Amino acid sequence: MLELLIRDGLIIDGTGNPGYYGAVAVDGERVRILRGDLDGVQAARVIDARRKVVCPGFIDMHAHSGLVLLAEPRHEPKVHQGITTELIGVDGCSYAPFHSHDDFRKFVQINSGLDGNPPLPGRWSTVEQYLDMFTNRAAVNVVYIVGNSPIRIAGVGWDDRRATARELDDMKAVLRAAMEEGAWGMSTGLDYPPGSYADTAELTALSEQAAALGGIYHTHVRYSLGDRYLDPFREALEIGRGSRIPVHITHFYHRTTSPGGASRMLGLVEDARDEGLDVTFDSYPYNLSSTRLTILLPQWTHDGGYEKLRAVVADPALRDRLRKDMGPRASSWHDMWLTNFKKPANHRFEGRSIAQVADMLDRDPVDVVLDLLADEDLEVSYVSAGGNLATLPKFVSHPLSMVGSDALLIGDYPSPRTYGCFPIILSEYVREERFMSLPDAIRKMTSFPAQRLGLPDRGLLRDGFKADITVFDPRTVKTPATRTQPKQLPVGIDYVVVNGQVVIDGGKHTGVLAGRALRRGRAST
Ligand SMILES: [Zn+2]
Repeated sequence: MLELLIRDGLIIDGTGNPGYYGAVAVDGERVRILRGDLDGVQAARVIDARRKVVCPGFIDMHAHSGLVLLAEPRHEPKVHQGITTELIGVDGCSYAPFHSHDDFRKFVQINSGLDGNPPLPGRWSTVEQYLDMFTNRAAVNVVYIVGNSPIRIAGVGWDDRRATARELDDMKAVLRAAMEEGAWGMSTGLDYPPGSYADTAELTALSEQAAALGGIYHTHVRYSLGDRYLDPFREALEIGRGSRIPVHITHFYHRTTSPGGASRMLGLVEDARDEGLDVTFDSYPYNLSSTRLTILLPQWTHDGGYEKLRAVVADPALRDRLRKDMGPRASSWHDMWLTNFKKPANHRFEGRSIAQVADMLDRDPVDVVLDLLADEDLEVSYVSAGGNLATLPKFVSHPLSMVGSDALLIGDYPSPRTYGCFPIILSEYVREERFMSLPDAIRKMTSFPAQRLGLPDRGLLRDGFKADITVFDPRTVKTPATRTQPKQLPVGIDYVVVNGQVVIDGGKHTGVLAGRALRRGRAST
């Protein structure tokens, strides 16, 4: 007998092809497509999907769940969006391997405004041990890429300097071991130290190693480089050219402050493909970004690591220098909204802009930032304006783009993308504005990322594929999440199945934790 039969829905299989009517059966953990007469088909449970779309579960190409998912395994903000697999370890900031627990704790603290600092269910040091942590302890599957920050901490340490030849060999060995234990490639976040201290040559050498094992290079580019417009992306392409690794540019979008248009950014990627480079990207459908507040600090403040950074933010003698270095941001203090305060006395600042807090306290905005970072042990996060809304659809609907939510799972006022990234594409970009067709949008959320990552049996509704399934109403799907009321679950996403088990049932979370880490190099994931 079949475990589950989802019948009479419009099956959009993830290929980009138009849908057809039929039934999707779950047989064990796998999918079976049934056409025609269902008489005599026995199933333990039948879901009526009339007027609904049945498609593969969504794959998020940029997830910040590497720690929070272990602490809050139901993963409500994400699984309610129809997401069944997430790529974690992004932005160069991943949480294994760490052979020194002291280094691990410091790295968590430095990134706590990005990935949180939750109570963890256990300790690990290797990638293998880390990936084991997710077994039966997560509502979704995870795909892991190793960040170049832990690689650099292991090989070089926390300092801003060039790696020696021997250190480079050490880093290659760390990367090789990580991939042999199941990582799918390497990530960078070239605004985030200490990974950002790596130069182009170091990243090319590491990428060569990752490419030899079939991995990808997933990059948050070095936004401060050169013209701060095209040069950051040119570096990513140069790394791809030099190492022959497939390049994936993450959160690719055009800023309102860019010196030129979006077409030249997309043209750069299109030209690289014409030249033979394997390059893709992901985008999120909001003109709001969010990250840890420490990103506002100049790179030298991180040189040496956690203790150094803590001392810098608290040192009154350095304030003038920092005011000068951080000054150019002044025009945007109104568009940067703070969140993730731990101390009760600071809760009144949740959701307020840095300019508002500066007014409340009658302090200079730079002092506000530094004082709050000192008081909160660096854990503050923020949401900011900056993406160009007018050019955003060009990125989201581009044939080379996938969806990466970049959702931070911390604070009372996360970006609305944390709860709304996938549904807003289905409602605004597809149904209301018709920037792309529904089968195209679903392809970007399913088979395209599965192919990019190399997942052999996910991302399509096809016989024998793993039963990760999302059922939604294309007429009503939407997100009520906004910047000022971000923590609201989507509407119209009725069923989500992970590895054959129902996690969202009639819009409600069942508590089932059927996810696991999918490891590179296994015939079946
Ligand atoms: Zn990110």
